[in-house]
Amino acid sequence: MPYTKRFDGRKFDETRKIEAKVGVIEKADGSAYFAFGDTKAIAAVYGPRTLFPQHLQNPVKGRIRCNYDMMSFSVSERKRPGPGRRGQEISHVTEKALEPAVKLDNFPNCVIEVYILILQANAGTRTAGINAASLALAHAGLPMIDLVSSVSVGKIGGKLCVDLIKEEEDFKEKNGEKSATDIPVAFLPRLGKVSLLQLDGKISSKELSEALEMAQESCNKIYEVQKRTLKEAFKEWK
Ligand code: UDP
Repeated sequence: MPYTKRFDGRKFDETRKIEAKVGVIEKADGSAYFAFGDTKAIAAVYGPRTLFPQHLQNPVKGRIRCNYDMMSFSVSERKRPGPGRRGQEISHVTEKALEPAVKLDNFPNCVIEVYILILQANAGTRTAGINAASLALAHAGLPMIDLVSSVSVGKIGGKLCVDLIKEEEDFKEKNGEKSATDIPVAFLPRLGKVSLLQLDGKISSKELSEALEMAQESCNKIYEVQKRTLKEAFKEWK
């Protein structure tokens, strides 16, 4: 079934309304809020601190330890509280997406703790979480070579779209078969490097290249919002 008009009326290459703020949790070393429309994430960063137990320490470089979770009230069908396999997977890929941006070799034997909580979810929570976490790491004053900007792209009813909502992720063909392809991506925009690429569904290699270009364009826009948010916050500090 062709997808000619998006459920929420956006253009196919348009993200939802982006909101970003830093310094939302006073006790944390760095913190941030990031929203794609009604998908809302907060992130808090603590550290670097010496990593325990000692056998986990790396004398060459520090590590990022990420904890992602969704609040029970973030979706209408209450999410079971506590850790689950999905949360573990997202925490792991988020660590991998953030690590290349931080100069971890400055912090041997240390850990930087990153907590991400999803306040409201309508798809794209891992990408919103990565954007919030990247802002929180920068807000903590950690040495970074770049920010990380993330968005999902996908193929819905044969059409490439950016920043999917849940209705789009669940898009079904006339025969009732689920046909959406969801591709969460993260970039280090200044370096033009990819630090997250997941793919759920089917897509040709040509379409994948087009989808990645679309994602990169959106990530460049997200990057501008992230930089502006940080600059405004640091201006207020003076
Ligand atoms: N979701 C839900 N309950 C859950 C997990 C997910 O309702 O326990 C919804 C939520 O809206 C989430 C979406 O399913 O954003 C898509 O989840 P997915 O695992 O694809 O990750 P995301 O797109 O959020 O990064």
